[in-house]
Amino acid sequence: MFGAVVVGMGTAGSVRIRDMLAPLPGSTAEKFAVKGFVSRRSLETQQGVSQIPVEEALSREDIHVAFICTENASHEDNVRMFLQAGKHVCVEYPMTTNNKTAVELWDLAQEKGVILHEEHIELLTEDYNQLKREIEGKILQEGTLHFTGGPLKPGFGFPAFSGIARLTWLVDLFGKLSVTAATLEEDSAKSYSKMTVKLLTSENRPLTWIEERQPHLPRSKNIHFQFESCSLTQIPSVPRGKVGLFMQDLIHFSAKLVGQVIPDESQREKVRILHCLELADTIQQLCQS
Ligand code: NAD
Repeated sequence: MFGAVVVGMGTAGSVRIRDMLAPLPGSTAEKFAVKGFVSRRSLETQQGVSQIPVEEALSREDIHVAFICTENASHEDNVRMFLQAGKHVCVEYPMTTNNKTAVELWDLAQEKGVILHEEHIELLTEDYNQLKREIEGKILQEGTLHFTGGPLKPGFGFPAFSGIARLTWLVDLFGKLSVTAATLEEDSAKSYSKMTVKLLTSENRPLTWIEERQPHLPRSKNIHFQFESCSLTQIPSVPRGKVGLFMQDLIHFSAKLVGQVIPDESQREKVRILHCLELADTIQQLCQS
């Protein structure tokens, strides 16, 4: 069994506790035993699980794994602290809000001989997987992914990082990308922001990624992908799967811990994650220059 601690008691942290308390029967997620949670606030017991000081979480020998579920800006420090203590780490995306530290953290995990896993539930949804199947084999001419949503709370970082899930979709669908231009339009009085990014695939096909946020903007993703043979303008509407997204991620992480994920697959994931963070870094620099 892997003793686990959850760091950060927001939406994601509560779901992590819920899933570890009721793992999918017969799955490797049953290998976790939640030992406590860490929070900067002083909280009551959550779902029967007690708060413990961070020092205790780092030093206890029966705690082998940390789930980092805080706001993005504090992922880096938490991940580093738990890796240094020799614990396996599962961090909610994005791992960091800059690429350089992500590389350092991965090196640290390797040095310590522990698993570092970044959650990407956006790749696990039924509609995304249907979209991916529909795109397979088609030749892209150009495309747009436009995300809208409400403003984020402080601490979630620059839009290229807080929106890494959309960038991850584009990289997972179309392969390695490069950034040709990026701008950020902001109106703080209206809590409005719009980031527009121009990307190129390795076949020089243009992609546009837009992240737009404002109070009351509905959370949605609009696509327009033009292929040689057809165009796709809607994300397929597919019923949700029986297994929740965070549970699927928990199973994937636990499979890595018990050695059921082949190193090639983990390596491909790492390459994709670092490529996305590197793109996000470039986008931030272009927007701010
Ligand atoms: P959240 O705002 O619910 O929580 C973020 C942090 O704020 C946590 O550390 C939490 O303890 C703290 N917090 C929450 N309420 C607080 C309060 N009243 N006072 C003081 N602190 C408070 O955010 P979240 O949705 O849990 O996101 C956490 C991480 O998970 C982020 O990195 C996010 O990108 C990632 N993530 C979340 C989801 C999701 O569906 N919620 C999906 C994928 C990734």
